[in-house]
Amino acid sequence: MEQGERRKFIELWWPRLKRMCVICFLLDEYWEDHHIWSCKRVKDELCRVGVKDWAVKKIQSKYETASCCYRCSRPGDMCEAAQVGLSQGCLEPDMIVPVVVMGWLVEEMGLKGIVEEVAGREIKDVHDLFGWMMRRHYERTLSYWGTRGFAVWVEMMMLNKKRFEEELGEEFESGSGCSDEEMKSNEEWDEESD
Ligand SMILES: [Zn+2]
Ligand SMILES: [Zn+2]
Repeated sequence: MEQGERRKFIELWWPRLKRMCVICFLLDEYWEDHHIWSCKRVKDELCRVGVKDWAVKKIQSKYETASCCYRCSRPGDMCEAAQVGLSQGCLEPDMIVPVVVMGWLVEEMGLKGIVEEVAGREIKDVHDLFGWMMRRHYERTLSYWGTRGFAVWVEMMMLNKKRFEEELGEEFESGSGCSDEEMKSNEEWDEESD
């Protein structure tokens, strides 16, 4: 799939995905009444491997300097607050870190392979995973410079694109968030950069 098309999907779906528990959705569990941030499953799974709070672990693991918006974990150019140098004020939830960690940790999500594919090596443990994902990715993701964690998260979302569209897609039928003109310029941009 072309970068422009992937980017369109992620940008269109971000507002929807951030309002739900993507993890429970992907696990076919009840997902509608809570957010990733308050997901008991995330808390329990992480506790099992010795991580009390992923948000604290994230801060301790430290993002590579200027690699992304430290709050929402998206590439700086994708986050409105970070774009103007105010990522401290970013109010977007971080859906990247918990989804990547759970995708690696919980076999039933069927996403572990993608993490190691993007990493190009075996991930030893959850600490290794945090350390790895918080570094810059060597190539652009959706035309943005971002972290390895963001790159792998996009792969995870793309792998489930059909499922999101089939199960939640009716909300979007009345129009796309990206105009044809915007798409055209994105595609041109992609051609130049590839
Ligand atoms: Zn959940
Ligand atoms: Zn942000």
